[in-house]
Amino acid sequence: MPVSDSVDLGPGADTDGDTADGLDDVELPINELFYSLQGEGTLAGVPSVFVRTSGCNLRCWFCDSYHTSWEPTHARLSLVEILAEIDSHDADHVVLTGGEPLLHEGSTALLEALADRNYHTTVETNGTIFRDAPIDLASISPKLSSSTPTPERDPTGTGEWERRHETDRIDLDALARLIETYEFQLKFVVTDADDVSEVCNLLEDVRAAADTRIRDTDVLLMPEGATRDRLAETRHRVADLAMEYGFRYTPRLHVDLWNDAPET
Ligand code: SF4
Repeated sequence: MPVSDSVDLGPGADTDGDTADGLDDVELPINELFYSLQGEGTLAGVPSVFVRTSGCNLRCWFCDSYHTSWEPTHARLSLVEILAEIDSHDADHVVLTGGEPLLHEGSTALLEALADRNYHTTVETNGTIFRDAPIDLASISPKLSSSTPTPERDPTGTGEWERRHETDRIDLDALARLIETYEFQLKFVVTDADDVSEVCNLLEDVRAAADTRIRDTDVLLMPEGATRDRLAETRHRVADLAMEYGFRYTPRLHVDLWNDAPET
C-alpha cells in the first residue's frame, strides 16, 4: 500500500518540526515503509524495517517494485516522519531500498540519523551511484543484460528505456568505490547459465577495478521471480549453478512466505 495511505506515525511522533537537527527540512520520496523479515542475502530472516524510496535510474523489465521505477509514486515524507515510523517497530535493522535509494541526497541524512540511533543499516543498490554515508552493509545488485527492457519485455510495450538502461546499468567506478568503502555483498538476479557467464565476466572487470578482495562467497545468485510459481521454475536451476561455480545461493524468503503481497 502506498505510504501516504498506510503510515501511522504513532503516539508521540514529532511532526511539528524537529528542526534543531534539521531532520524536518529533509524529505525523501517514499513508496512503502513497513516491518518484515529481510528476504534476501546474508541477513535473510532478520526482522527489519524497510524504507522503500521511489525513483530509479534504471528500468529492469522484471522490476519487483514497479511503483518505484516504471510508475513511481510521489508521496514524500520528512526524516522526522520516517524515523518516527522506524522507531515504532522493535527492530535493530533498517533496510534502505528502492527504487535506487542512492539517487536521493536525503538518503545520506537518513543514514546518518540511523547511525546516531545505533541501527544496523543495509542499503540495497543497483551499484551505479556512490554516496559517502554510514552504511553497515551495501547490498549491491548490478543488473545483467537480461534485465534490459527490450520492446517485447518492456511492461509499457514501448521499448523507450532500452538504450538508456543498457548504457547506464553498469558503472565500474561506482561499483569499485562501493566495494572498497563498505562491507558488501554482490547479488545477481539469475535466470539461466548465460547470466552466470556474464556474472563471471563482470566479476573479472570489478576485481581488476577494486582494491578490495572479492571472494566467490561474496557473490550471491538469486533466482529471478517475484511469485512462488515463477520461483518454482527458476530456483533449482540457480541452486545448481551456484554449486557449479562456487557462488552463494540466496533464497527469496519473502516470496516463499508471502508470495507477491505488498509490504513484505
Ligand atoms: S534497478 Fe532495481 S528498482 Fe531499479 S528498475 Fe531494476 S530492479 Fe527495479
